[in-house]
Amino acid sequence: MLKDKGEQRTSLASLGEFGLIDHLTANLKCTQPSTVKGIGDDAAVLDFKSKKIVVSTDLLVEGVHFDLSYMPLKHLGYKAIVVNLSDIYAMNATATQVTVSIAVSNRFPLEALEELYKGIQMAAEVYKVDVVGGDTTSSTKGLLISVTAIGEVEEENITYRNGAKENDLLVVTGDVGGAFLGLKVLQREKSVFEVNPNNQPDLDMYTYIIERQLKPEARKDISKLLHDLDVKPTSMIDISDGLSSEIMHLCKQSKVGCNLYEDKIPLDPQVISTCEEFNIDSTMVALSGGEDYELLFTVRQEDFPKIKANPNFSIIGHITEAREGIHLVTRANTKIPLKAQGWNAMDEQE
Ligand code: ADP
Ligand code: MG
Repeated sequence: MLKDKGEQRTSLASLGEFGLIDHLTANLKCTQPSTVKGIGDDAAVLDFKSKKIVVSTDLLVEGVHFDLSYMPLKHLGYKAIVVNLSDIYAMNATATQVTVSIAVSNRFPLEALEELYKGIQMAAEVYKVDVVGGDTTSSTKGLLISVTAIGEVEEENITYRNGAKENDLLVVTGDVGGAFLGLKVLQREKSVFEVNPNNQPDLDMYTYIIERQLKPEARKDISKLLHDLDVKPTSMIDISDGLSSEIMHLCKQSKVGCNLYEDKIPLDPQVISTCEEFNIDSTMVALSGGEDYELLFTVRQEDFPKIKANPNFSIIGHITEAREGIHLVTRANTKIPLKAQGWNAMDEQE
């Protein structure tokens, strides 16, 4: 039925709803022991024995959460899964299943949805989660994707946002700020292209930050790593809106304060050089950028020796009493109250 990739535009109407679902889901395979029944009946059936179940949902809307002019559909499918799995990992749980629901206008041919599902399938394989269901419907305009992720965890390992205690250390995985700057570069290239379509962008010097934006990865590895190090985080959250707002969430819910040290915030060299190029402050980007999908967590002081030399972790601050407030301690050693601004706030400042 489908030949000449890129040329062919098979209309969705020609397949019908059930033909479309069958076609898109044909290659998805279930491998999780907890999946009893996947796609094909009125509902999926799961069996988690004695484990606790964690569930999280995200809704992505074209024009609000993604722009298809620089986001290839395959990447979008991959990212839609990854951002949900990140929430499951932030509970210190193992992701096991997802459901994927789409609303799509007739502007999209079947070939576009095939690309989307290639990305979804790739993420499902990389993160070892089963796609066990979803829903497919039409929209008058644009594309909507909703993913629900399901995970399992032993009750004693569940990590909430509200467990941080005074004197705990504040730790972040990987580095931050890259995804936001990747978006800035892509937006700039888009506007250059609109003025001069013959202009071939040279993006070699931005590969890391563009990848952080277009193909983010969730920290599936951290739960196991912490377990192997015999460290149980006291609180945890994933970084979707920016370091600043996630720190505020942890502190508010745990009823504590915090000192964050500017010089400890982990930045990739490409983040630093691109900030210089765009003439923006790298700390600002790290605090308000968002979409890094790293994990932010707190550990007890006595666990310091277990994590201090680990390249996956940066200790960026410590928890204080609530009445001391939430502060950034700058390189110049002044204390500035943190503000909970997400990356939208940052766009407004420009
Ligand atoms: P119902 O009419 O009961 O909602 P559907 O015909 O919509 O059932 O779905 C049939 C099966 O296909 C179900 O198992 C459903 O979960 C699955 N499914 C439907 N749409 C999608 C999708 N976009 N991605 C994955 N699975 C889907
Ligand atoms: Mg349905």
